[in-house]
Formats: sequence, structure tokens, C-alpha cells
Amino acid sequence: MASVLVVEDDQFVRSALIRHLTDASHTVRSVGTALEALREVAHLRFDLVILDLGLPDLDGSEALKMLRGITDVPVIIATARDDETEIVRLLNAGADDYLTKPFSVEHLSARIAAVLRRARAGGTEAPAPPVLRVGGLTVDPLRRQAELDGARLDLTRREFDLLAFLAGRPGVVVPRRELLAEVWQQSYGDDQTIDVHLSWLRRKLGETAARPRYLHTLRGVGVKLEPPATGDGEGEPPR
Ligand code: CA
Repeated sequence: MASVLVVEDDQFVRSALIRHLTDASHTVRSVGTALEALREVAHLRFDLVILDLGLPDLDGSEALKMLRGITDVPVIIATARDDETEIVRLLNAGADDYLTKPFSVEHLSARIAAVLRRARAGGTEAPAPPVLRVGGLTVDPLRRQAELDGARLDLTRREFDLLAFLAGRPGVVVPRRELLAEVWQQSYGDDQTIDVHLSWLRRKLGETAARPRYLHTLRGVGVKLEPPATGDGEGEPPR
């Protein structure tokens, strides 16, 4: 069961959608314009948005862009135009899936189930992610807070994302390519971006590249985060 926002101006399609979703035990709210949809997602938490692309006030891609500006909620776009180029463009712009109208109930249910499954498996709408602990480091992805030996770390958004991603894979060497894709959501980019953020993060963790404790850079390979070795003879910084 999920909480679904239906954004559809066609009264007939809208009531059909509401009926199907309610039958499938979802909770449904519905609106007929993009602006109302933006207001809804700004105030309420949904598991899924079904967004009609032909709305009276905003163009579908504009509506999607604005939605994405305020929420990571999964979005299924519904379109009467079977325009592959447009659909691909919207999927790249942040839609999670699409439906071409007219669609069957079975098709709708399958798409919803798939999107919710994906979101729950790894999306930001998933149930509370566990607090990560690596040595004296604690990373709470839900509250977006990190502590080192009980002291709160003051991290930027990107530093936090980077730390949380690495803390979720302690001891694993993460290739830079993967960091770019997962933390920066870029398929390519230059290593300097990562290096700069790593060095800032390192400073906040009170360590240096020459004397790493948690953050280890393996030149030409990647980065890993692991608990500091005990008894390495270097002593721990005072705190
Ligand atoms: Ca419409």
C-alpha cells in the first residue's frame, strides 16, 4: 500500500485512476494542475506521483523539473503521445517510469509495483536507512548527521554524501568512476572534483593523505573508508 498523488486534468482518466488505485488499497489524492501538484508534494509525503504530461498550466517536462526541484518522490509520467524521444528525455530528466495512454489496469499496477520496489530497495523514499558505524565514525543517513568519536562533523551536502556512501561499504575500494556516478550522479567527470572533496572531508576527519586514518586513497584505483588500524605506532590525535 502506498500513498499516491494523481496529477491529471482529464476527469474521466482521473476517476478511473483513482478507482484502480483505491481498489489496490493505495491512498490517493488527486489534482488537475501542475501548480496544485507542486503544492501537494511540498506539504505532504507521497510514495509515488503519477504525472499527466498534458496539463493545462505547465508543460509536462517543466512540471517534472519543478517537482524534481522539491522532491525525490518516484514519478511515473503518463502520456497520450507515444513519442519515444520525449519519453527518453523525461526519463533522463528524473521520471522513474512511464505509461502511454490508454493503459490497462494490469499495466498500471505492474508499473507501480516496479517503481515502488525500486524506491524501497534503494531510493530516498525507502524506510529509514540504518545508522552506519565504522570505528569511531557514525553516519546517520536519515538525519544527515555524522559524528567522529561523539563529536558532530560539520559537513557540506556533498561531503556528507561522499562519507555516507563510503561508510556503507567499509573496507571496500570504491573506484572513482563509481563515486562520480553514485555521489555526483555523473557518468564522467574529472578526478579533481573527487580529490578536492576528499581533501576537505579528510581535513574534517582530522587526518591527512600522508597519514590516513579512515580515508585511504589508492592511487589509480579508488578510495576506501575503514576503521583506523590500532597500534600502528602513530598514536591518535588528541581530542
Ligand atoms: Ca491531460
